[in-house]
Amino acid sequence: MMATPLPRTSCPCGSGEPLNECCGRYHAGAPAPSAETLMRSRYSAYVLGQVDYLLTTTLPAQQDGLDRDAVSAWSSESTWLGLNVESAEILAGQPEHAFVTFTARWHDHDGEHSHRERSAFVQHDDRWYFIDPSVELKAGRNDPCPCGSRQKFKKCCAAFV
Ligand SMILES: [Zn+2]
Ligand SMILES: [Zn+2]
Repeated sequence: MMATPLPRTSCPCGSGEPLNECCGRYHAGAPAPSAETLMRSRYSAYVLGQVDYLLTTTLPAQQDGLDRDAVSAWSSESTWLGLNVESAEILAGQPEHAFVTFTARWHDHDGEHSHRERSAFVQHDDRWYFIDPSVELKAGRNDPCPCGSRQKFKKCCAAFV
């Protein structure tokens, strides 16, 4: 028996919803309402090659440190096999931070990969941002946090990079 193919518009994040009622709304500019929806929409953006979305949903203070060509290459040279979100932990405090634990699977010229990650996110001005642990945040521990929270860096995003 052949498996029934998913409808073409089914969202790549695996929610079972149509793309335009799921991650497509956030790719089109609507703010993702939670860290988990932002994380899912970033996975979908990798699948769909939405490189600008991947850049602009990273913490603004880190965007200059991103390698657009590398992001683009990773997106286009991988065959994305699926996403499984295990948990989303909302941390108390202002601004709100959250961790999302997920496993992403993909296939590339080196074979098949499965990567489990606990990613950090922060909300600022009603938008959630991914805190990229691979990009340095330049701030002294007592400086205002680069995320724009007006808190000291050491009390805000320093714990996540
Ligand atoms: Zn989705
Ligand atoms: Zn911060």
